[in-house]
Amino acid sequence: MAHHRHFSEPKLIIASHNQGKVREIDELLHPYNIDVVSAGTLGLDEPEETGTTFIANAELKARAAAKAANLPALADDSGLVVPALNGDPGIYSARWAGPEKDFNMAMGLVNDGLKEGDDRGAYFVAALALCWPDGHCETFEGRVDGVLVWPPRGNLGFGYDPMFQPPGGEQTFGEMNQDAKHAISHRADAFAKLTSACFAD
Ligand code: IMP
Repeated sequence: MAHHRHFSEPKLIIASHNQGKVREIDELLHPYNIDVVSAGTLGLDEPEETGTTFIANAELKARAAAKAANLPALADDSGLVVPALNGDPGIYSARWAGPEKDFNMAMGLVNDGLKEGDDRGAYFVAALALCWPDGHCETFEGRVDGVLVWPPRGNLGFGYDPMFQPPGGEQTFGEMNQDAKHAISHRADAFAKLTSACFAD
């Protein structure tokens, strides 16, 4: 197995200004007794996401926060990849919803882009980057495969959840409760890789 730098500091910055993400990451790190503080709370600027991959964008956010605060920082970047749309919306998943964050519109754009007979397979990706002030980063990627359904179903999730159905059941992510989604999600997959590589004893 590749060697990873172990995380042993008492404090960690979550390089996100999204309260929902910060809360979710805080909960996932609870067992490790780490004092978690958000980039927003520290008044750190959000860098522009100029990377061309999920990993690159997660890394540039974590690297900027670690450098600015002189503390280790964790960032994530995620999205929906549709191979039949050449990988769109991909790293632009949030942007497809526009300034109003209208995901009904974004889901409509995805569905309209798919022609009759196109493969409706898709996957969610979550990239995590843990960076230290000295510039060292550890990165991890999680993934969950599924198919795109139409019309969208359920209102329990967020983003593209109502049109994404993972294999083995009839429910979309939008119809699944949080625990069921977290058991198989791209984010859970990425976190499991991060914690076993960097946080486990
Ligand atoms: P980010 O904040 O730049 O990582 O944007 C991620 C975007 O990808 C979100 O705004 C959602 O549109 C989409 N996305 C990521 N993860 C999920 C998920 O678990 N369900 C639904 N949509 C997701």
